[in-house]
Amino acid sequence: MKVRVCFVLVFLIPLLSFSQETKKKFVFIIADGIPADVIEKDPTPAMKKIAAIGGYARAHVGGERASYSQTPTISAVGYNSLLTGTWVNKHNVWDNDIKDPNYHYWTIFRFFKQQYPEKKIGIFSTWTDNRTKLVGEALPQTGNIKFDYVADGYELDTVQFPHDKQSLYIHNIDERVIDEAAKCIRDHAPDLSWIYLEYTDDIGHRYGTSKEQDEAVAYLDKQIERIWTAIEFRKKNYPEDWGIIITTDHGRDAKSGRGHGGQSDRERTTWMVSNLPNLNSYFYDDNPGIVDIMPTIARYFQLKIPTQRQMEIDGLALTGKISVSDFHANYFNDSISLDWKTWDKQGNLKIWLSTSNYFKEGGMDNYILITEVPTSRGHYQFSTKNNPSTFYKIVLEAPDNFTNRWIILSIKK
Ligand SMILES: [Zn+2]
Repeated sequence: MKVRVCFVLVFLIPLLSFSQETKKKFVFIIADGIPADVIEKDPTPAMKKIAAIGGYARAHVGGERASYSQTPTISAVGYNSLLTGTWVNKHNVWDNDIKDPNYHYWTIFRFFKQQYPEKKIGIFSTWTDNRTKLVGEALPQTGNIKFDYVADGYELDTVQFPHDKQSLYIHNIDERVIDEAAKCIRDHAPDLSWIYLEYTDDIGHRYGTSKEQDEAVAYLDKQIERIWTAIEFRKKNYPEDWGIIITTDHGRDAKSGRGHGGQSDRERTTWMVSNLPNLNSYFYDDNPGIVDIMPTIARYFQLKIPTQRQMEIDGLALTGKISVSDFHANYFNDSISLDWKTWDKQGNLKIWLSTSNYFKEGGMDNYILITEVPTSRGHYQFSTKNNPSTFYKIVLEAPDNFTNRWIILSIKK
């Protein structure tokens, strides 16, 4: 009898594992305003455990300094760069007022729901703006996107979270956000979630570089541990793969460590922790940006992004193969010279040029194919005499990624 049970099991186990397809799930966490030197100095056992599975890298926010994509190192501005994979010159969220986001640059949630309307998305946060303004829930401009799981807006609840001068209520709100997110992951496993934690920034504004800040990072690490435990529970009990990226939205000034918003190295320098197993050399050896998280999630879920939309995304996937990065374009004497860094020498890349930017109003641009050259070439120069303009969008279409640049010329007199 015993032999027979074993026999059945041996045949049943492979059948079970074949019949249940592994579901892919992803969580990204923004812990607000933690400089890279602080996260590297403080003990963070939970984040180190996750990084040991995937990796840790320094990263940047702020777009390209002193260029058309320079982006304030301000919270909501950074969150939207993460969500849309673009810098402020495109997404148009210049500060925390979030006055006029350009929803033509879709968020990762919108791409995700477009392709997988039946899959579930979740959001967990102190405030509601992340959901209502940045992702733009229920707005016609965002295709009336709707979250399936929501726990946010606790800053408005002064009964449960009475505001105190030491901002402990913000810590208590973060604790609640984590409770809700961990429970939601355990019970419902949303396919794509965003968890936002505020206390580290609040304490940074209040105390700057300080033991209080170190304490806030210690709280954060314990909160990450609770999310990780929920993920491990799911992985153990369900056929699910879970990806996670933890990052911050800006650093802080070097002098006091209280402020941010400017373009100093410490304000621009951020970090990322991830469990993803196939992080690439661009992640480890280049200078990845907050805009790279959106295309990384898109690749994780194999989202099919239409070409004109791919041509606008400023980030690159941090996993798997990429062909080129560090794309620069310079205009001089009626010609444009391009250079780029090659990560994979295989194949050719196409160089596309547009003198319009209808995309930002919801239209399509007419791209001219300038030429096709080997990806390994790293450089190309061409004349603009046949395409005179004060604005150029140039896109490289390489075998494994797109990358783009703008040139804005001051009007000639
Ligand atoms: Zn912030």
